[in-house]
Amino acid sequence: MSAAAFVLAINLFVAGLFATAFGVLAAYYRSALGARWIAFGYGCGVVTSVLEFVLPFQADARPVAFALFSIFLFALAFIVIGLARHYRLSPPLRVLTGLVAVSMLINLFSMEMPRDSFLRAMLYQLPYALILLVALGMMVKLPARRILDVALMGILVTVIIHFIAKPFLAQMIGSGGAPQGYLSSTYAAISQSVGAILHISTGIAVLLIMVRDVMAEITARSETDALSGLHNRRGFEDHSERAMALSQRSGVPAMMIVADLDHFKQINDTHGHATGDMVIAAFAKTLREAAPQTAVLGRTGGEEFAIFLPGTNLACGRLYAEAVRTAFPVNVAPELKGLNLSASFGAAMQDTDDTLSELMRRADQALYRAKSEGRNRVVVAKIPPSALAAESGTIKDFGTS
Ligand code: GH3
Ligand code: MG
Ligand code: MG
Repeated sequence: MSAAAFVLAINLFVAGLFATAFGVLAAYYRSALGARWIAFGYGCGVVTSVLEFVLPFQADARPVAFALFSIFLFALAFIVIGLARHYRLSPPLRVLTGLVAVSMLINLFSMEMPRDSFLRAMLYQLPYALILLVALGMMVKLPARRILDVALMGILVTVIIHFIAKPFLAQMIGSGGAPQGYLSSTYAAISQSVGAILHISTGIAVLLIMVRDVMAEITARSETDALSGLHNRRGFEDHSERAMALSQRSGVPAMMIVADLDHFKQINDTHGHATGDMVIAAFAKTLREAAPQTAVLGRTGGEEFAIFLPGTNLACGRLYAEAVRTAFPVNVAPELKGLNLSASFGAAMQDTDDTLSELMRRADQALYRAKSEGRNRVVVAKIPPSALAAESGTIKDFGTS
């Protein structure tokens, strides 16, 4: 077995592994939108590797060579479609179809050119580079890129350069006198080895990006309350603990507000559970609309809510709660207008060494007082002595919208 054939066998195996990995990802996570296309792409990669092995045994190599070229084009096009689907972009189908069709036609004609012609080699490699250039163009326009996305862009640039460099290499060292001699050439050994490294790098980068985004989506879903669209208790605790630590480190004031809908059981009993659900969603909407961007909002129980406001002093925290309290009954959809809607609020200022449960406990006590003093009001817990310093400092980053 020649060196090139050995690496080709590895390439076949790697393509099979990636096809399986992306196939499994697509089967288990319906949200991994692009994985199925990438699996098709690597599946085509398996076929092209098999065809490379078959090629030397053909009396007339042209049909297999044409199939090999075309299927590899499809493999790359599927990967571009997969990336577009993953990044929620519309796949550039027209551009890809045009590129694939024109490239296949040119390939048919270029087969009659001498095998060692530079133009023929370039006409063979350039379409691959152009298809990946489409992927790169898509990624350049992404509104936000993280480190793995940038790494994939770097790999794509390298792959594009490698396709364009191949005709030059073929000119320098020759690519085997006939297709049948390809696998025993040094060119094939270099081409297959560089190809292996680049295929593995691309596959790993795309797989990591997809797994990263699937995990992020699963985490977000497990921390989100479906009815209100706010964090659920678990999400609220996680996010507010982090925001609390940040406020404590930077020494800015912060407020915790808890809210509970008044006589909600009556609304359920009189108008039904579905109406109750609409009221919960309407209250959450009011909370969200009045909140500054940095706020952490959660539905911590049936009709109980909590809002952590970083960079907010007592006056601003109270103002926020009052704004929600007065806007809530006015803001609702027409079918809820006749209901007797109100909510009670308890607010507590964060102390320098507060834990989340300690801060929540003080806010809950204030809410309890709001309930016992007649409901539909905001009660603020006594400011802890050590929080007074932060309270007297500058008022930071609070706005209602
Ligand atoms: P208070 O003013 O003292 O808070 O009285 P309340 O009736 O609001 O308080 P209570 O805690 O007794 O009632 C809460 C009700 O919320 C009881 C429960 O049936 C209802 N509830 C809890 N989760 C949901 C939900 O997801 N949807 C609906 N529609 N109702 C819910
Ligand atoms: Mg209640
Ligand atoms: Mg309650």
